[in-house]
Amino acid sequence: ETKAEIIAVGSELLLGQIANTNAQFLSKQLAELGINVYYHTVVGDNTERLKEAVKNAQSRSNIIVFTGGLGPTKDDLTKDTIATILDTELVTDLEAMSYIEDYFSRTKRHMTDNNKKQALVIKGADVLKNEFGMAPGMALTAGDKYYMLLPGPPSEMNPMFLNYGKGWFLEMFGIQEKIISRVLRYFGIGESQLETDIEDLIDSQKNPTIAPLASNGEVTLRLTARHESETAAIQLLNELEEKINKRAGKYFYGYDNTTLQQEFMHKMMERNLTISAAESLTGGLFSEQLTAESGTSKVLMGSIVCYTNEVKSNLLKVAEKTLENDGAVSEQCAIEMAENIRNLTNSDYGISFTGVAGPSMMEGHPVGTVYMAIARRDHPTESHFLQLAGSRDGIRKRTVKYGLHHLLN
Ligand code: ATP
Ligand code: MG
Repeated sequence: ETKAEIIAVGSELLLGQIANTNAQFLSKQLAELGINVYYHTVVGDNTERLKEAVKNAQSRSNIIVFTGGLGPTKDDLTKDTIATILDTELVTDLEAMSYIEDYFSRTKRHMTDNNKKQALVIKGADVLKNEFGMAPGMALTAGDKYYMLLPGPPSEMNPMFLNYGKGWFLEMFGIQEKIISRVLRYFGIGESQLETDIEDLIDSQKNPTIAPLASNGEVTLRLTARHESETAAIQLLNELEEKINKRAGKYFYGYDNTTLQQEFMHKMMERNLTISAAESLTGGLFSEQLTAESGTSKVLMGSIVCYTNEVKSNLLKVAEKTLENDGAVSEQCAIEMAENIRNLTNSDYGISFTGVAGPSMMEGHPVGTVYMAIARRDHPTESHFLQLAGSRDGIRKRTVKYGLHHLLN
C-alpha cells in the first residue's frame, strides 16, 4: 500500500505568516492519482529538525514529498539534508545550470555563486523542470521509498507538479490514464449552427476535447476525457454534456452509434405505442427503416405507399376536393393522409410524407418541397413543411429523418 507524507519546509509557515497551501494542493493531486496521503508535516528551516522530520516520515510512509527550501539562500537546506540522509551527494545538473546562466545573461544581471547552488541536484535523481523559476525539482527512489522535492512558491510548484511530478508518479506506479469518449448525436440543426451555439466551449476545450463531425444530415460531437480515474473521466464528460445540451438539447437524440429509428423504436416499445405510415414522397422508405430494426411488429402496424392520386383517394380516402384544390403536395393532403392511415389501421400514431423529390417540379412546387403530418390519438394533428436541397435520394432520406425527429420531440 502507498502511504504518502507531505513535508512542507519553511519557518514562515510555523510563524503563521503563510498558510500551507502547497500541502492542500498536493494532497488533492495525489488523491486523484489514487495515492493516499496519511500525514502533513511542517518543519522550520533547521537542519536538525528537518532530519528528524524525514526520519519520522521514513518510518511510516513510502512516498515523501517536500516543498520549499530549494532556493539559493542559506536557509534553503532541503536538498543538502536529504542528500546527507540518503548518504549521497549533490551534483551539478548541466541543463539547469545553462538555464540559470541564460536567465542571468538575458536579464543582464550579475550571477552570484549561490545562484549556481540552484543547479545542484541529488545524484541520480530525475530532474523536474522549473518553468517559472530557477531551482529545479527532483524525484528519486531510494530503498523502497519515493522522494520528490518541489520548490516553495506555488507559482513554481503547481506547474512543476502538474507537468512533470504527476507524470513521474504515473510512471513509477504504472498508473494508466483512462481515455473515455462519448458521441452525442444531433439532428435538425446544421453543423455551423451547432458550432456557433457552443463556440465558447469549443474554444476553451482542453479536457474533455470536443470534435464536431457532420455526415448524412446529422451532426455528432465526440467528447473525449482523460483521467487516471475512470469515474472522474465520466464525470468530466457528464458535466460537458450537460453544458452543451443546455443549449442544443432540443436537437440531441442519442449516444454513440445509435440511429434516429433505433431511438424511436425504443421509445415506442417502452410506451407500448403503434404507428402506421402513408408514404408518397418516401415510397416506403420510412417503413423500410423501421422494419430494419427487430421488434418492429410491436410498433409498425402497416403502411400504404400512396404514390398516385388514385391510391390516395381510393385506398387512403383523401378527399377528392383536397386533391383538386390543394393538390397532392400540400399541408391539407398530408394531414388527411396521416389521420386516415391512423384511423384505417387503428394505430396510436399516423405519419405521412408527400412532396417533390425531383428531379423536376411538380404541381408548381420546386424540388425539395415536403409536407409531412403526424396524427396522434386524441391529439390535434401537427404538420411540418420542409424545403430541402440536394439529390432525389438525399431529399427522401432526410425527409424520413425529419419525420423521426418530429416523432421523437
Ligand atoms: P525560493 O527559490 O523562492 O527561495 P524555495 O523553494 O527555497 O524557493 P522557500 O524559500 O521555502 O522556497 O519559500 C519561498 C516562498 O514560497 C515562501 O516565502 C512562500 O511565499 C512560498 N511557500 C513556501 N512554502 C509554502 C507552502 N507550504 N505553502 C504555500 N506557499 C509556500
Ligand atoms: Mg528559499
